[in-house]
Amino acid sequence: MLLRLRWYKMFIEIDEPFVCEVCGENVKPLGYSCRDHCPKCLCSKHVDKEPGDRLETCNGILQPIGLENNSKKGYIIIYRCNKCGMIRKNKMAKDDNFDLLMEVVKKNSFDMKE
Ligand SMILES: [Zn+2]
Ligand SMILES: [Zn+2]
Repeated sequence: MLLRLRWYKMFIEIDEPFVCEVCGENVKPLGYSCRDHCPKCLCSKHVDKEPGDRLETCNGILQPIGLENNSKKGYIIIYRCNKCGMIRKNKMAKDDNFDLLMEVVKKNSFDMKE
């Protein structure tokens, strides 16, 4: 029960407007789920050790490098931090730039096989 409550709190806190540091887009809250990346350039920031905790001090830019199709969760964007190289995964949002995502997947298709 305690765990569920904590989850709910994090869920609310993450969905907030922010200005994207990469492309300058004014990103609005998603409304139905947590907004954890920019829908325009798809970049995210490496600020969480666990999703939503903001305890990570790296602060690098998480750049999209690929896409995963999860039968339960839908599309998952795979990210790599440009500073520390950590791999993260974020769920795709409904207003994400899908064309750009496809470009990313095409461009990085060789990397993904490593
Ligand atoms: Zn952006
Ligand atoms: Zn990092």
